[in-house]
Amino acid sequence: MTESMEQYIRSLVEKSVQGVLADGTINSSRRKLVIGNWKMNMSIEESALLFEGLRGEEQACDVAVCPPFPLLYPVKVMLAQFQDSIALGAQNMHWAEKGAHTGEVSAAMLKELDCRYVILGHSERRQAGETDEEVNLKVKQALAAGIQPVLCVGETKDEREQGRSGEVVVSQLHAGLDGVEDVSSAVVAYEPVWAIGTGLAATPEQAQDVHRTIRETLANQYGASAASGVPLLYGGSVKPDNALSLAVMDDIDGALVGGASLNAVDFKGVIDGFTRG
Ligand code: PEP
Repeated sequence: MTESMEQYIRSLVEKSVQGVLADGTINSSRRKLVIGNWKMNMSIEESALLFEGLRGEEQACDVAVCPPFPLLYPVKVMLAQFQDSIALGAQNMHWAEKGAHTGEVSAAMLKELDCRYVILGHSERRQAGETDEEVNLKVKQALAAGIQPVLCVGETKDEREQGRSGEVVVSQLHAGLDGVEDVSSAVVAYEPVWAIGTGLAATPEQAQDVHRTIRETLANQYGASAASGVPLLYGGSVKPDNALSLAVMDDIDGALVGGASLNAVDFKGVIDGFTRG
């Protein structure tokens, strides 16, 4: 990045100086986590506007944003104003350490930019051909690099209608975590495919039901104590008006948010819901 580009980013940040998001406590054993998945959206200027709108709030919730690759560095610069209370994440990475993989990005590259999280196995990538085996290689590579994988699992509409939600999710979970001995840095996101970007969120009860299955599956594999420490996020049309009702469910520890993470009003509304839940 040229110096003038960096100055441009900093000038956007400095336009309005208010407070910053601050740490706090919540009345739950697991601190809630809200991650914004920007997908293929946002410009540098729109990112700055979003963060301007997020300033000045006290939050007792962990927050992260996952911009597209070209925005990772500009957003990293912008996040300095939040003094680590908003973390950076990426939307994908390659499973290889490095090498001849044109157009790909490695875990080491993300780590160098201080990415704390990387979304892996998102249904939009699975629909584009990503296999359970590739997701698993990526999960292991992310963990080896010290990045927390956000492993996405979820059933299609047909699979739900056939009563196969639990079976599909457990199978994706087993495959994604195959060979992972220590699950303490992993995050799991339950994202029913039929709820993503449709405005048709799972009900809190439907989501809790699958989250309980995920928790039990983790407990069987890693023990109850380790399983209880893994944040389980719900994703799929989370909005300010359904955030609280999802957040109060026992095994819903946060949200992976697409559309509502693109503007400050909605993202704040979701964060507020999970802060209170
Ligand atoms: C997502 O793509 O991860 C997602 C949950 O999208 P949305 O919130 O827009 O449904």
